[in-house]
Amino acid sequence: MHWPEGCLAGLSCMTNLPGADLHWPEGYLAGLSCMTNLPGADLHWPEGCMAGTAMHELSLLENVREILENHAVSQKFSKVTKVTLEIGKLSSIEPDALRFGFDVVMKDSLAENAELIISDIAGLGICRQCGLEVELETSHDPCPHCGSPKVKVIQGADMKIKDLIVI
Ligand SMILES: [Zn+2]
Repeated sequence: MHWPEGCLAGLSCMTNLPGADLHWPEGYLAGLSCMTNLPGADLHWPEGCMAGTAMHELSLLENVREILENHAVSQKFSKVTKVTLEIGKLSSIEPDALRFGFDVVMKDSLAENAELIISDIAGLGICRQCGLEVELETSHDPCPHCGSPKVKVIQGADMKIKDLIVI
Protein backbone atom coordinates (compact mmCIF):
# COMPACT_ATOMS: atom_id res chain seq x y z
CA MET A 1 0.00 0.00 0.00
CA HIS A 2 1.11 3.50 -0.72
CA TRP A 3 -0.41 6.37 1.13
CA PRO A 4 -0.33 9.87 -0.19
CA GLU A 5 2.00 12.09 1.75
CA GLY A 6 0.26 13.87 4.57
CA CYS A 7 -2.50 11.35 4.56
CA LEU A 8 -2.75 9.31 7.70
CA ALA A 9 -4.75 6.53 6.16
CA GLY A 10 -8.21 7.85 5.55
CA LEU A 11 -11.32 7.01 3.80
CA SER A 12 -10.16 8.42 0.53
CA CYS A 13 -7.25 6.01 0.45
CA MET A 14 -9.32 3.04 1.35
CA THR A 15 -12.12 3.22 -1.08
CA ASN A 16 -9.94 1.66 -3.73
CA LEU A 17 -8.79 -1.31 -1.76
CA PRO A 18 -9.83 -4.53 -3.45
CA GLY A 19 -12.34 -6.60 -1.57
CA ALA A 20 -12.59 -4.16 1.25
CA ASP A 21 -16.17 -3.41 2.03
CA LEU A 22 -15.43 -0.89 4.67
CA HIS A 23 -17.83 0.24 7.27
CA TRP A 24 -16.58 2.67 9.85
CA PRO A 25 -18.33 3.06 13.13
CA GLU A 26 -19.65 6.54 13.39
CA GLY A 27 -17.12 8.94 14.81
CA TYR A 28 -14.39 6.37 14.73
CA LEU A 29 -10.76 7.15 14.09
CA ALA A 30 -8.15 4.59 13.29
CA GLY A 31 -4.62 4.35 12.01
CA LEU A 32 -2.04 3.11 9.63
CA SER A 33 -0.80 0.53 12.04
CA CYS A 34 -4.25 -0.96 12.14
CA MET A 35 -4.33 -1.57 8.46
CA THR A 36 -1.69 -4.17 8.10
CA ASN A 37 -4.30 -6.86 7.66
CA LEU A 38 -5.78 -5.24 4.59
CA PRO A 39 -7.11 -6.07 2.14
CA GLY A 40 -10.00 -7.70 3.86
CA ALA A 41 -13.64 -7.07 4.21
CA ASP A 42 -13.89 -7.85 7.85
CA LEU A 43 -11.81 -5.32 9.65
CA HIS A 44 -11.28 -5.15 13.34
CA TRP A 45 -9.58 -2.20 14.84
CA PRO A 46 -7.76 -2.38 18.13
CA GLU A 47 -9.51 -0.47 20.82
CA GLY A 48 -8.26 3.07 21.15
CA CYS A 49 -6.69 2.95 17.75
CA MET A 50 -6.93 6.06 15.65
CA ALA A 51 -7.45 6.07 11.92
CA GLY A 52 -10.14 5.70 9.40
CA THR A 53 -12.86 8.03 8.46
CA ALA A 54 -11.37 11.29 9.30
CA MET A 55 -7.71 11.12 8.36
CA HIS A 56 -7.86 13.63 5.58
CA GLU A 57 -9.75 15.93 7.88
CA LEU A 58 -7.37 15.23 10.75
CA SER A 59 -4.38 16.33 8.76
CA LEU A 60 -6.27 19.48 7.78
CA LEU A 61 -7.07 20.09 11.42
CA GLU A 62 -3.43 19.64 12.31
CA ASN A 63 -2.67 22.39 9.83
CA VAL A 64 -5.31 24.54 11.47
CA ARG A 65 -3.76 23.93 14.87
CA GLU A 66 -0.35 24.95 13.54
CA ILE A 67 -1.79 28.12 12.08
CA LEU A 68 -3.45 28.94 15.39
CA GLU A 69 -0.22 28.34 17.26
CA ASN A 70 1.67 30.62 14.89
CA HIS A 71 -0.98 33.31 15.20
CA ALA A 72 -0.88 33.03 18.95
CA VAL A 73 2.79 33.93 18.91
CA SER A 74 2.54 36.76 16.40
CA GLN A 75 -0.67 38.24 17.77
CA LYS A 76 -0.06 37.49 21.41
CA PHE A 77 -3.05 35.50 22.47
CA SER A 78 -2.92 32.38 24.58
CA LYS A 79 -6.24 30.68 24.11
CA VAL A 80 -8.73 30.14 21.34
CA THR A 81 -12.33 29.76 22.43
CA LYS A 82 -14.07 29.61 19.09
CA VAL A 83 -12.98 28.70 15.58
CA THR A 84 -15.06 29.27 12.48
CA LEU A 85 -14.04 27.27 9.44
CA GLU A 86 -15.43 27.82 5.99
CA ILE A 87 -15.76 24.57 4.11
CA GLY A 88 -16.24 24.72 0.39
CA LYS A 89 -18.81 22.36 -0.99
CA LEU A 90 -16.34 21.21 -3.64
CA SER A 91 -13.51 20.58 -1.20
CA SER A 92 -14.26 16.90 -0.45
CA ILE A 93 -14.01 17.74 3.22
CA GLU A 94 -16.55 16.06 5.44
CA PRO A 95 -17.91 18.49 8.02
CA ASP A 96 -18.89 15.64 10.32
CA ALA A 97 -15.37 14.26 10.24
CA LEU A 98 -14.03 17.71 10.99
CA ARG A 99 -16.36 18.10 13.91
CA PHE A 100 -15.33 14.79 15.31
CA GLY A 101 -11.63 15.26 14.71
CA PHE A 102 -11.53 18.77 16.08
CA ASP A 103 -11.60 17.84 19.76
CA VAL A 104 -9.03 15.12 19.20
CA VAL A 105 -6.57 17.33 17.35
CA MET A 106 -7.01 20.39 19.56
CA LYS A 107 -6.56 18.50 22.78
CA ASP A 108 -3.61 19.85 24.79
CA SER A 109 -3.31 22.82 22.46
CA LEU A 110 -4.33 26.45 22.92
CA ALA A 111 -7.62 25.56 21.26
CA GLU A 112 -8.53 22.74 23.59
CA ASN A 113 -12.28 22.84 24.26
CA ALA A 114 -12.78 25.58 21.70
CA GLU A 115 -16.12 25.70 19.97
CA LEU A 116 -16.07 24.77 16.30
CA ILE A 117 -18.39 26.50 13.88
CA ILE A 118 -18.54 25.19 10.34
CA SER A 119 -19.82 27.45 7.64
CA ASP A 120 -20.64 25.92 4.27
CA ILE A 121 -19.54 27.74 1.16
CA ALA A 122 -21.41 27.03 -2.05
CA GLY A 123 -19.57 25.82 -5.11
CA LEU A 124 -19.38 28.36 -7.91
CA GLY A 125 -17.82 28.26 -11.32
CA ILE A 126 -17.57 30.25 -14.51
CA CYS A 127 -18.39 28.49 -17.73
CA ARG A 128 -15.60 28.91 -20.24
CA GLN A 129 -18.08 28.35 -23.05
CA CYS A 130 -20.97 30.70 -22.31
CA GLY A 131 -19.33 32.84 -19.66
CA LEU A 132 -22.09 32.49 -17.08
CA GLU A 133 -21.48 32.05 -13.40
CA VAL A 134 -23.00 28.77 -12.29
CA GLU A 135 -23.60 26.95 -9.05
CA LEU A 136 -21.80 23.62 -8.77
CA GLU A 137 -22.60 20.54 -6.71
CA THR A 138 -19.32 18.86 -7.61
CA SER A 139 -16.17 20.18 -9.24
CA HIS A 140 -16.95 18.08 -12.31
CA ASP A 141 -20.41 19.43 -13.01
CA PRO A 142 -21.04 20.58 -16.57
CA CYS A 143 -22.51 24.01 -17.18
CA PRO A 144 -26.26 23.84 -16.53
CA HIS A 145 -26.91 26.42 -19.24
CA CYS A 146 -24.95 25.20 -22.22
CA GLY A 147 -23.78 21.77 -21.10
CA SER A 148 -20.11 22.53 -21.53
CA PRO A 149 -17.84 20.49 -19.23
CA LYS A 150 -15.35 23.35 -19.16
CA VAL A 151 -16.34 25.13 -16.01
CA LYS A 152 -13.69 26.87 -13.98
CA VAL A 153 -14.22 26.62 -10.23
CA ILE A 154 -14.07 30.03 -8.60
CA GLN A 155 -15.42 29.32 -5.14
CA GLY A 156 -15.91 26.42 -2.79
CA ALA A 157 -12.85 24.32 -3.50
CA ASP A 158 -11.08 24.77 -0.20
CA MET A 159 -11.23 25.31 3.51
CA LYS A 160 -10.43 28.56 5.29
CA ILE A 161 -10.19 29.73 8.83
CA LYS A 162 -12.75 32.47 8.76
CA ASP A 163 -12.87 33.70 12.29
CA LEU A 164 -11.29 33.13 15.68
CA ILE A 165 -12.30 34.20 19.11
CA VAL A 166 -9.28 34.39 21.36
CA ILE A 167 -8.35 35.48 24.82
ZN1 LIG B 1 -22.13 27.38 -20.18
